[in-house]
Formats: sequence, C-alpha cells, structure tokens
Amino acid sequence: EESVAAAPEVVFRSRLPDIEIPNEQTLQSYCFAKMSEVGSRPCIIDGQTGASYTYAEVESLSRKAAAGLRRMGVGKGDVVMNLLRNCPEFAFSFLGAARLGAATTTANPFYTPHEIHRQADAAGAMLIVTEACAVDKVLEYAAGKGLPVVTVDGKRDGCVEFSELIAGEELPEAEEAGIHPDDVVALPYSSGTTGLPKGVMLTHRSLITSVAQQVDGENPNLYFSKEDVLLCLLPLFHIYSLNSVLLAGLRAGSAMVIMRKFDIGALVELVRAHGITIAPFVPPIVVEIAKSPQVTAGDLASIRMVMSGAAPMGKELQDAFMAKIPNAVLGQGYGMTEAGPVLAMCLAFAKEPFKVKSGSCGTVVRNAALKIVDPDTGASLGRNQPGEICIRGEQIMKGYLNDPESTKNTIDKDGWLHTGDIGLVDDDDEIFIVDRLKEIIKYKGFQVAPAELEALLITHPEIKDAAVVSLKDDLAGEVPVAFVMRIEGSEITEDDIKKFVAKEVVFYKRIHKVFFTDSIPKNPSGKILRKDLRARLAAGIPS
Ligand code: ATP
Ligand code: MG
Repeated sequence: EESVAAAPEVVFRSRLPDIEIPNEQTLQSYCFAKMSEVGSRPCIIDGQTGASYTYAEVESLSRKAAAGLRRMGVGKGDVVMNLLRNCPEFAFSFLGAARLGAATTTANPFYTPHEIHRQADAAGAMLIVTEACAVDKVLEYAAGKGLPVVTVDGKRDGCVEFSELIAGEELPEAEEAGIHPDDVVALPYSSGTTGLPKGVMLTHRSLITSVAQQVDGENPNLYFSKEDVLLCLLPLFHIYSLNSVLLAGLRAGSAMVIMRKFDIGALVELVRAHGITIAPFVPPIVVEIAKSPQVTAGDLASIRMVMSGAAPMGKELQDAFMAKIPNAVLGQGYGMTEAGPVLAMCLAFAKEPFKVKSGSCGTVVRNAALKIVDPDTGASLGRNQPGEICIRGEQIMKGYLNDPESTKNTIDKDGWLHTGDIGLVDDDDEIFIVDRLKEIIKYKGFQVAPAELEALLITHPEIKDAAVVSLKDDLAGEVPVAFVMRIEGSEITEDDIKKFVAKEVVFYKRIHKVFFTDSIPKNPSGKILRKDLRARLAAGIPS
C-alpha cells in the first residue's frame, strides 16, 4: 500500500527547453505581433479565385469584420457560428469575433440541419456566417430564433453579405481592451472520450500557448518561416487546421494558400503555382498521394515538410510516402481538440531538427508535461510501457461548455487531461499510440460519436436498442457499424436502417454495417460494453 502511494510520478518533457510564452494578451495581438516585419508580405491566398491578401490587409479586414459584427449585435461573451468551408472570410470572421471578446464555434457546412441546429443551440450562437451550400439549412432556424445570417459568396434574401459586413470603418484597437486571457475565443465541438459532442472552451491563453509551443523560440519545434507557403487544405472548422495552419502560420508570418476541398489534380496545380513548402495532411490524403500514379516527385518538389495528424499513420505508409517525396521531411503531430489541441509534435520539424523514427506521433510539446498512466490503477508508468496518455499545461481547454461533470471526468484535480489514448514513450522521448480507450470513431480523421448515432437509431419505432462501435477499414481507418435489437415482429432490414441514418447525418457518420442481435451487452449501470462488441467483431461472429 505504502509503496504505491510513494511511487514517484514519471513525467515526460520535450527535448527542447521551455520558453517564455507571452500569453497575457489577446490571440489576435499575439498572431499579428510581427506586423512591422510582415505587413506587406502575402498572408492569405485564395487558391480558387487567386485573390491574395497581405498581412496588413488581413489585419485591417479583421478589424472591419469586428466592427461589422458589432453593428449586428455581437459583443463580449457572445458566440458566432462559422459554418464554412475554407475561405479567407473564415479567418476575417474568426479574428473579428476575437477582437470583440466573442468566441467562434465552428461546424461542418455539410452537416445536416439537425446537426447544425443542435450545435448552434448548445453553443448559444447569436449569428451564423455561412455560404451558399449551407444557407438553406439555417435560414428557417435562424429566422425562428431571430439570428442574423451572413453569407460569404453572394446575396441571399434575408441574409447580409460579408462584403457589407466589412464595408465600414475598422474597430479601433482601444475597444479591444476588455478582453481577458481566460476568455473563450474558439468553441469547437468534440465528443472527448465518451458521449455526445460537447463545446470545448479554448481561450486566448490556451491557443497562444499552443501556437507558441509549436512555432516560437530560438529553435521552434515546428519551424515555419516568413518564406514558407502553407497549404491550408484541412478544414478550418477543425481545430487542427485552425491552430496548426492558420494561427501558427500567422504567428510565423508565412503565406497560406486556401483550398476548399481535396482534389489531387488541383492540389498539384496549387503546389506548383504557389511554390508550397509546407503541407499539413491527414493519413487518408497521404495514402491517396502515395498511391496516385498522377503525382510524381517532381510535382511536389517545392514541399519541404509534410505533417500528418488526427489519426494513426503506420510506419509502412510513412515509408511509402517518403519514397514519393524524398526531399521533404514527413512526420506526425498528435492532437486532441480538448488538449488545445497539440500534445506532441515531430522533432524533425524543428529549426535544428532531431532524428526521429517512422510511425512515431512526435514528442510532447515544450512548456508541458506528459505522463502515461495505468488505466486500471492510475499508477504512473515508465518508458516503453503502454498506458493512458495524460497531458498538463496552459494550452489545454478551460473545460466543456456548461458541462462541469464531463470536465471533471476529463481533467483531474491535479490538472491532468486524460486523453483516452493508449500509448507509450520510448527511450528517445518519442510517443507511439497503440490503441484507444475512448469511444470516438475516427473516419478519415473526422469524429463520429457512437452515442449520437445510438440516440438516433433508437428514435426509429422498430428499433428497441442499439450500440455503435468502430470497425477497422483500409481506406477510412475506422467506420461506424451498428448492433441493433429490433422490436418483436419487426422485419426492418439492414438497408432500411442505413438509409434511415443517412438521411439525418453528414456522410462520414453513416452506418457501414448492421448486425442484428438479441441483446446489447451493458454493465450494471447501463453503460454499453463496447469492448465486448468490438471483441465479437474481431472474432468474426457479429451477432
Ligand atoms: P480535429 O479532428 O478537430 O481536426 P483533432 O484531430 O486534433 O482535431 P480530435 O478530433 O479531438 O482532435 O481527435 C483526437 C484523437 O485523434 C486523439 O485523441 C487520437 O485518438 C487521434 N489522433 C490524433 N492524432 C493522432 C496521431 N498522430 N496518431 C494517432 N491518433 C491520433
Ligand atoms: Mg480530429
């Protein structure tokens, strides 16, 4: 007993020294701190239209957006919803809201109306910024709630055009004075380790800390320079891209080329046209490029760094991709929305790079502490022993919005955020993720919360009970599959159920297989025993 209590905690740290992090200011002032050096340099380039904005223009447009949002009633503590694919206006709106002390909640414009309305309600959104492909999904809802809708790509009845929003004067700097470093600035939705998607409160302090951990210091862990051109292809409505591409790029003074959707031909063209040097990807994109006969090493010659994150990338894939693009450094970052989001970053991306191993998802970022705990006993484990990854530092979320209970279950009393990921730290401080304790399913890096699909399934009158788990998939990484208990006498088919779900959810949450069963295994408190269901799948007797 005594020896357990006395067991020392093993804490892992970066190989890079801690740095001074200037996180007692607003995110926007931190990101634009080098304006005198970069003002006339390119900042945001719209890959689709070719429109290009300098740093000075982006700063000015974000001040105009702030003034415009204020005219529409947005103020400190309010929430704006960005329901947008990647576009320059995403950045103007996000930074504009930040200047007012408001937060932006981001959502996928391909979500169904049901998904959008639920998030807008939960977040308390008081204005929606969107585009033609999504506007019909919000108009009636917004009218019912009296929320203004802004569109970025043309006029629509009942909406304000973004060009009108930014048509006035800039918000004077002095009016940003009331913002506190612990005010929320970004409110992405994430399901964490269990349950439905929850609002993740990221503050000015947490995002400054996270960006600084990546790109600041004499030897930045993730070295972006003023000469670099970043590809902004991953959706900005996810925190990976918002943080490690847009905010990190702004802080470093790099140029960012915005791409709305993945298309291999268009990607090659943009790389050539703009001399892209940094390519942040997710594993499915890496797979596609590695396999595509359309893409040659010559096409990607300007790229010096390829980052992958959001889902596992094994050594084989990493090696296959490296053969295709031999002059670039390929490595991984490891993020989780709640963690701010970056926990670990490849040290081969540093200005003075370290040697790293293929398949590792990086080393813990500087100014943070990481530990590995035994998920059953909570005991802290040493090197090379797999356990739950926990992280501590000023970058992690403030908590879940209006959900102190879930917050308490995720961040313990000593400030450790429990990730639900099982991994180990090796002798060289490199982290390898080996499994996941938590429920979320990752389809091509997109989050699918089983609880959300289960809640939907049981609304069907012929479904008595249901459970959703992940199934490994070569293309998507994981796909959601359902175990379904029909009501007596029901003859509802697998196809009926798939169609029922497909109507209500965005494409990546669709059910890929349905297994009919007589019971859903649960523990005495009623929690679904997903491990048992995954074991049934693994054993090949799914019934
Ligand atoms: P977003 O999906 O919004 O871009 P994100 O991917 O950083 O953000 P989440 O969607 O919250 O964050 O997903 C976090 C989970 O993704 C991690 O807890 C882990 O299970 C998985 N993950 C992230 N990066 C990696 C990686 N490099 N290798 C393996 N798994 C990863
Ligand atoms: Mg993700």
